Amino acid sequence: MTDCIFCRIASGDIPATIVKRTGDAIAFRDLDPRAPTHVLVIPAKHLRAVRDADGDEDRQLLGRLLAFTAEVASELGLDDGGYRIVTNTGRDAGQSVDHLHLHLLGGRRMTWPPG
Ligand code: AMP
Repeated sequence: MTDCIFCRIASGDIPATIVKRTGDAIAFRDLDPRAPTHVLVIPAKHLRAVRDADGDEDRQLLGRLLAFTAEVASELGLDDGGYRIVTNTGRDAGQSVDHLHLHLLGGRRMTWPPG
C-alpha cells in the first residue's frame, strides 16, 4: 500500500535503520525509542494487525515473525537481560500505524502492568 509508511519502509521507498531482513520480514530501529534497544519487526505483506491474519499462510507468517523477533533480540545481545515483545492493536492500545508491527524493547528494567 503506497500510503502506508511501513509498506514504504519495507519496499525501500522510505529510509530506515534496518537491523535485519528476511524474505518476508524486516526489523528496523524505532524513530522514537522507548528503551535502549527499540526495534520494530514488520511483515513485508500489509496486514493491519494480528487479528487480521487470515488463513494458514498468514498464521505461518505470524509464527515466523515471532521467531525472527527472537533471533533479532538474540543478535542484539538481549538474551541475558531479557526483553519485551509488544504489539499494540487498535485505539485503546494506542496503535498509531495500521501495519502489523512487533515492538522489541530491551536494555532496561521494565514495569508491569504497562501504562
Ligand atoms: P504503535 O504506536 O504501536 O502503532 O507504534 C508505531 C511506532 O512506529 C512508534 O513507536 C513510532 O515511533 C514508530 N515509527 C513511526 N514512523 C516511523 C518511521 N518512519 N521509522 C521508524 N519508526 C517509526
